[in-house]
Amino acid sequence: MAKISKKELASEVLKTLYESFPDSDCTLDNDTPERLAIRGILSAQCTDVRVNLTCIDLFSKYPDMADIASSSEEEIGEVIRPCGLHKMKSKAVIAFAKLYVGEWGRVVPNDVTKLMKCPGVGKKIANLIVGEIYGTPALVVDTHCKRVMKRIGITKNDDPLKVEADCCKVFPEDSWIRLGHMAVDLGRTYCIARAPKCDICPLMNICGRKI
Ligand code: SF4
Repeated sequence: MAKISKKELASEVLKTLYESFPDSDCTLDNDTPERLAIRGILSAQCTDVRVNLTCIDLFSKYPDMADIASSSEEEIGEVIRPCGLHKMKSKAVIAFAKLYVGEWGRVVPNDVTKLMKCPGVGKKIANLIVGEIYGTPALVVDTHCKRVMKRIGITKNDDPLKVEADCCKVFPEDSWIRLGHMAVDLGRTYCIARAPKCDICPLMNICGRKI
């Protein structure tokens, strides 16, 4: 393939991803904004399936954010233990619930900077929250997105913030939310970490990876 610019590459990649993964979407349950945010916090290094299951238990025991806010780290930690990192995550979940019922007046902020003031909420989770709840353009760079964007040739970076910046320079803003989901599907289906299936990958003719 003739040498093309990063923007042209991104455009080709996006077109192919839309065709290949028309149903890509967030796989965390999304009943209310504050519950989705809690699921986002719990999703660090855990599968969405496990998070969804654990949250059925969590929200049946603690239906309102005020219930979580007034609980101890030990109590919440015990329920969310299946998601891993339960000590760190219970602190974050309680901190989020306290901000939600207090300073935020029961409205999840549509503001990445405000969200990141909550312990345990980094850029990835904040982007997930504003994107999924408000449709605010934001790219979630998880381990799949980072890997596939590097292999494709969109970025040379490993730092998720730099990967996000590199992607956002070349992919149109209105694609960012879906792009994150499609990158996950690409990473799970073809661009697997240890053994990418390049010979059957829909991006095989445009991917920058030297095979
Ligand atoms: S061609 Fe290979 S390296 Fe490129 S995106 Fe597909 S699976 Fe990944």
